[in-house]
Amino acid sequence: MKSNYIKEILKEYEQIRKKNEQALALRRKEVYEKIPRLKIIDAELASVGAGIARIALSGNSDSASALERLRAHVDSIRREKAFLLTEDNFPLSYMELQYDCEVCRDTGFDSSGARCNCFKQKLISKAYRMSNIEDALKTENFETFNLDLFSDKPYAEEKLTPRQNISQNLSICESFTLNFGNPREKNLILYGQPGLGKTFLCNCIAKALIDKGHIVVYQTSFRILEILEKHKFSREKDLAVEMAYELLFDADLLIIDDLGTEMTNAFTNSELFNILNSRLLSSKKTVISTNLSPLDISQVYSHRISSRINAYYTPLEFFGRDLRLVSQSKKHR
Ligand SMILES: [Zn+2]
Repeated sequence: MKSNYIKEILKEYEQIRKKNEQALALRRKEVYEKIPRLKIIDAELASVGAGIARIALSGNSDSASALERLRAHVDSIRREKAFLLTEDNFPLSYMELQYDCEVCRDTGFDSSGARCNCFKQKLISKAYRMSNIEDALKTENFETFNLDLFSDKPYAEEKLTPRQNISQNLSICESFTLNFGNPREKNLILYGQPGLGKTFLCNCIAKALIDKGHIVVYQTSFRILEILEKHKFSREKDLAVEMAYELLFDADLLIIDDLGTEMTNAFTNSELFNILNSRLLSSKKTVISTNLSPLDISQVYSHRISSRINAYYTPLEFFGRDLRLVSQSKKHR
């Protein structure tokens, strides 16, 4: 199972590299058409580069001064190239290969030959079937969060307007990602009715930390329970399940989405406690999103769970009108 994933992932890297090379070829073509001189410069750079390598290898006594001359020549045509590009408003990086991951240059392995974090994250995404979330992460992140969607009118008995409240929640989530390495930074619990931006903010957090190279597991509590059950009760060990199980404890960040939608019983209570508590003990961060209020949690889950959440989680309340309904009614107007 796992080796299949690895094969698939290596194939993905190949496609990413191909995609970026094709994009570079297109950019090159565009630039050469606009600035024909650059094509000559690039050809020259390539041939001078080969010349430098030849001379350096030959090791002749007079090669030092020849090398110096060639290098000076390279410098001068590189400067001309940079000048021509910027004069036509192309960024200098326009003619360079771009990487999705700068660390491993889309090979999956860093300079020491170890698996890059982006490789580990891809593996996790497969084990957790998180690819749906990967798509959401492209569009839902701190840069695209839109405060204007939230009403700036008073709401029910609340002291803050929904917009003031969400903007406060947003900045707490942002500082959570900025202080992620600090063991004293509390975990987060986002609670409130559906359609108020909880999942969006979870995606923002996940995206910011994945981009920094952290290992993030994002899963609904329903699916987490499925993994726990399979781990505990399957007679045959499934590698993917075992890996998913271990990551509940080992991931730098675990996001438990929709806590409270799973079946709660003695088994789920003790397993959930085990995960939350182990993560607290090893200073690994957890973010929970739920429709349950803190009071509901104390009634649905064991005292051990709710007291841990009360002590070690910053509660972020979400209130206001369901955004999905608001945007629908706007569409119909
Ligand atoms: Zn990488």
